[in-house]
Amino acid sequence: MTQATFKNDSLETLPMVPLRDVVVFPHTMIPFVVGRRTSLLAVEHALSQNKKIFLSTQKDAKIDNPSADDINAIGTIANIIQSLKLPNGNIKLLVEGNFRGRVLELHEQEGCSFALVKVIERKTQVTPDLEKEMQKAVSLFEKYVKLSPNLPYETMISTIRVTEPGRLTDTISAHLQVGIEEKQRLLETFEPKDRLEAIVEILDNEIEKLRVDRKIHHRVKKQMEKAQKEYYLSEKMKAIQQELGRKDDRVNEVEELKQKIEEARMPKEAKEKALQELKRLEVMPPISAEATVSRNYLEWLLAVPWSKKSKENRDITRAEKILNEDHYGLEKIKERIVEFLAVRSLVKNPKGSILCLAGPPGVGKTSLAQSIAKATGRKFVRLSLGGVRDEAEIRGHRRTYIGAFPGQIIQLMKKAGARNPVFLLDEVDKMSMDFRGDPSAALLEVLDPEQNATFVDHYLDTEFDLSQVMFIATANVLHTVPPALKDRMEVLRLAGYTLSEKINIAQRFLIPKQLKTHGLDPDKITFEDLTVRDIIEKYTREAGVRNLEREVASICRKIARRVVKEGPGFTLSLPPAVLSDYLGVPKFRAKETEKKNEIGVAVGLAWTEIGGEILTIEATQMKGKGKLTLTGKLGDVMQESAHAALSYVRGRAQDLGVDEDFHRKFDIHIHIPEGAIPKDGPSAGITMTTALVSLLTRIPARGDVAMTGEITLRGKVLPIGGLKEKVLAAHRFGIRTIIIPRDNEKDLADVPPEVQSELDFKLVDTMDDVLKIALARQPAPATGKEEFQEKAIGQAPEEGSDRPMAH
Ligand code: ADP
Repeated sequence: MTQATFKNDSLETLPMVPLRDVVVFPHTMIPFVVGRRTSLLAVEHALSQNKKIFLSTQKDAKIDNPSADDINAIGTIANIIQSLKLPNGNIKLLVEGNFRGRVLELHEQEGCSFALVKVIERKTQVTPDLEKEMQKAVSLFEKYVKLSPNLPYETMISTIRVTEPGRLTDTISAHLQVGIEEKQRLLETFEPKDRLEAIVEILDNEIEKLRVDRKIHHRVKKQMEKAQKEYYLSEKMKAIQQELGRKDDRVNEVEELKQKIEEARMPKEAKEKALQELKRLEVMPPISAEATVSRNYLEWLLAVPWSKKSKENRDITRAEKILNEDHYGLEKIKERIVEFLAVRSLVKNPKGSILCLAGPPGVGKTSLAQSIAKATGRKFVRLSLGGVRDEAEIRGHRRTYIGAFPGQIIQLMKKAGARNPVFLLDEVDKMSMDFRGDPSAALLEVLDPEQNATFVDHYLDTEFDLSQVMFIATANVLHTVPPALKDRMEVLRLAGYTLSEKINIAQRFLIPKQLKTHGLDPDKITFEDLTVRDIIEKYTREAGVRNLEREVASICRKIARRVVKEGPGFTLSLPPAVLSDYLGVPKFRAKETEKKNEIGVAVGLAWTEIGGEILTIEATQMKGKGKLTLTGKLGDVMQESAHAALSYVRGRAQDLGVDEDFHRKFDIHIHIPEGAIPKDGPSAGITMTTALVSLLTRIPARGDVAMTGEITLRGKVLPIGGLKEKVLAAHRFGIRTIIIPRDNEKDLADVPPEVQSELDFKLVDTMDDVLKIALARQPAPATGKEEFQEKAIGQAPEEGSDRPMAH
């Protein structure tokens, strides 16, 4: 090596090459390529002289023609060891740094830069302190090399053999992988001691960085290894399965599922769920419980109709025709349904109202909904809500439950196979609620047009769009339907059928249907009209036609037996006289026998879940202190009406000829038989009062008069609900005189004309009006013979056949 050709602190003029991104230290060799014209000239100049050159790093590597200000004043005087001209004109140099030098002046000459350089003195002294510091630096450097991925170990070996501090620090500096600024700083630190300190600090920092790096690297590597391992194992498993001959099944299954997922046209979220599950399924052992759960889930995801839709028919005339073909009567209802469909066909995305068909069983609610489906070209599904008390039945169980399933909504959507079916929610009034959550809340969400486009079943766990579904609800009564639900619905009331309507329905629909079901020829087997009437009157007593259909079915079964016995030529036109051979003894007595006049008994009309009903209210008295007892299902609800009745009688005692002190001497017991629904309770007010007045006046109440109406304390009669149902019930029972509140007169328009024509409606305003009609004779006002009255009431029955009721 050509060392110490310079004296310390001497001045030299040398050709200068500016360096980009590299700092050359004394005592180190470094190769680089020179390409700039001025630099090439400088190199050539040096080569032609003593091969000495001054190298200084540019402050900014991007500058092509650096001026004096653009290069660092401190640089390195170096010897050119080797030079190689490259084909492109550049020169590749190998140089060895020698001394630090400070540029005092720069000047251009013959196209290249020359620097007047002051050579900087080298310090070679070694003190014990320095030695210690050197050792520290060496051991840190050792660590640094070990941690650093780019430094070869041999470098370190040669580096640390150096015993002179100045040289050691320069060699280490040259190997440090730090920025140019930092390296330049080390070059500009002349004192070996200062340089050592700086290096120790840098090494400390760098080692820490490398450690963190290595940690991260390690972690990443581990994760990658894990992924690789999984891949490897799953490949291996495939291979094993292939060896066992199962591979094809497995691959086929997965491929098949994948294809199905692609074809199912699911929304994005659902598709992602499905693919994710498929991935899990792929790595599960095929015959594990886990795989079954996973497969079930995928099958459900694939089975629900994400995008399938039935083609809707919006032809209103056709809808009207279908409704008429399927149902007899019900004109108003059918008209309303057609209107409803018309609105839906005009509005593109009809939101909001849901049809609710309310009425007793067997009046055709379900079959109307089926007709609507038929008329609009939609599929039909039915969810019976009777007894549903668990939210999960509507919304499903989470998949974490063993044996979990989607809720009924999704199950039925799958059954429908299209996303726009008619969805019948049967018996919304029978839904109940308990600790397992409120199903009506879930139902509300289903029915809410704002929410049902994003209905989430717990099992599917992804949104399903219900907004295209046409929901139709049915209910027997409305008072048990949660108010929020009721708000959503447009209620159509079906009250029940008259006798002639029932005969028509039976002849046109029920009998042909049952004959067909039982394989009977409608040309050979017929029912006479009078027979049908007898079935209705003697074997059924209902608002709808459900039992009627059942009785017809049971006759058909018996006829089928005869046809089989007697051969296919058998014909029959069923006359009324043989009915009991088919149906046994009539279940209901002839109506006339029930209509006796009795004391303390009044006939009311009630509204029940199965339509209108006759309600016989009985009152009796016994010695006591004026206690009022009410029994029967509606006892509690009737309390208020009963007290109103009592107050009315006391207020009118004089006029009615009743002992004014009766309430002090007797206990009164009123019994209301089962049947009516609680909400309809008060409408038995006038019936109860009539029974009471009849009891106290000993005047029988008429058994052939039925009544309904609320009563106020002063004896005014208030209107009631469900008039049509009640009137039909009275008619069914053969009652011909009906007392109704005058305010209900308008409701008579709903009563079929053929029923109206057979009835005598008495419109009343006050209780006095009622009594005039309902009692067998008029009470005489009191004449002062109360003593006798008391005896008569308390002990012996009155003359004649009418007797007080005994309980
Ligand atoms: P709901 O759902 O009100 O209990 P359904 O719809 O089940 O009653 O009716 C019972 C039976 O009576 C069905 O077979 C139905 O077709 C028939 N039905 C009811 N009303 C009519 C009607 N107006 N015309 C023809 N058939 C009817």
